[in-house]
Amino acid sequence: MESFDIAVIGAGAAGMMCAAVAGQLGRRVVLIDHSQRLAEKIRISGGGRCNFTNLYAGPANYLSANPHFCRSALARYTPRDFMALLKRHHVTWHEKHKGQLFCDQSSDAIIDVLKRECDAGHVAWRTPLSVEGVRQDAQGRYTLDTQSGPITARALVIATGGLSIPKIGATDFAYRLAKQFGHKLIDTRPALVPLTFAPADWEPFSALSGVSLEVQLATGNKKTGAEFTEDLLLTHRGLSGPGVLQISSYWQPGEPIHINLLPERDATTALLEAKTGTKRQIANLLSEWVPQRLAHVWLETHQISAEARVADLPDKALRRIGDALSRWTLTPNGTEGYRKAEVTRGGIDTRDLSSATMMSAKAPGLYFIGEAVDVTGWLGGYNFQWAWASGVAAGQAAAEYVKGA
Ligand SMILES: Cc1cc2nc3c(=O)[nH]c(=O)nc-3n(C[C@H](O)[C@H](O)[C@H](O)COP(=O)(O)OP(=O)(O)OC[C@H]3O[C@@H](n4cnc5c(N)ncnc54)[C@H](O)[C@@H]3O)c2cc1C
Repeated sequence: MESFDIAVIGAGAAGMMCAAVAGQLGRRVVLIDHSQRLAEKIRISGGGRCNFTNLYAGPANYLSANPHFCRSALARYTPRDFMALLKRHHVTWHEKHKGQLFCDQSSDAIIDVLKRECDAGHVAWRTPLSVEGVRQDAQGRYTLDTQSGPITARALVIATGGLSIPKIGATDFAYRLAKQFGHKLIDTRPALVPLTFAPADWEPFSALSGVSLEVQLATGNKKTGAEFTEDLLLTHRGLSGPGVLQISSYWQPGEPIHINLLPERDATTALLEAKTGTKRQIANLLSEWVPQRLAHVWLETHQISAEARVADLPDKALRRIGDALSRWTLTPNGTEGYRKAEVTRGGIDTRDLSSATMMSAKAPGLYFIGEAVDVTGWLGGYNFQWAWASGVAAGQAAAEYVKGA
């Protein structure tokens, strides 16, 4: 039987950070993962360059049934702290847009930093290794039944992530374990995910696959919905691109989404202004504002003749077209699911976790961190910032918890 102070299950972003912190505080830490390859999500993130944080990360960038939960950990471990860590390891980065920081080289640089930090904390690696069951004895010690025998630890940190991308090792382990210890779950669903449409509805647009443009997207009401101005990408089956991924986290099945195709201008005013002094056809005018192929298909699906001259159209008709351009309403029939989702919305209900330490209120010495808990970030480096911040909070707290035990 192997024995440690702290066992961390899940060697992804949150788990490695947590193990490194606890190890460097002098605790004997074991880090367990069932995957052959380490931290696959970091490796594939940000198109291979890992958008590892966002300069502006704050509680408003996260969805949760308990919106204030993430505040404490995010305030105590900030994007600047992670940047300082990278600097110490001579990793360089650049800002892409809206505060999104990416590695100059590749995501492997981040994985290497975390591995070196774990080594500095003398973390013991057990990978690949599957945990078949977890028990807690009367003294509060945890025993993990694994394929290579039992491992015991005074504190246990669960960092096995959410359900997205099962083919690289995502499982529901965290949720099952949380339930075993009496925790509630917030319904999970794919988030930061492309939206799909019924084949008949999408048929006119499917040929536009690859077309992209900046739009304003909105869904839901003031309280539960959101609005983003970002790129939209048309695909064979529906909509993708950063704007759609953002809105997908807020989208509820059955609800429509609204697209303002001309976020930079008032569409009706622009159409009415174009009426004077031009003999242009509406399709030509629209093609100055949005990609030409989209302009044609959009007009066709709105039963507007592409050849109609703007000057000949009554103001009332132009107003109707202006309204439709600034509020193109579409109702998705679903999403591309966990196969394509960058994250999982929902998860372990944070109301039974300490926001300062991530410790369970149901089982002392048990911690849940990272994507497994009901904290879901926007697209743009926010999810990794949560993984780092919750990992550090639990690493420090677990080290304190086992002190002297
Ligand atoms: C394609 C893609 C791109 C992304 N890009 C970005 C980005 O650029 N910026 C950003 O902020 N976020 C990005 N994300 C989201 C980000 O990767 C996750 O939010 C983050 O990795 C969550 O960290 P975690 O440690 O909680 O979970 P994970 O990183 O998913 O780690 C969980 C670990 O647990 C292991 N595990 C799972 N089940 C078990 C089990 N039963 N037993 C043992 N081990 C288990 C897994 O093998 C894995 O190593 C992206 C996600 C995807 C899918």
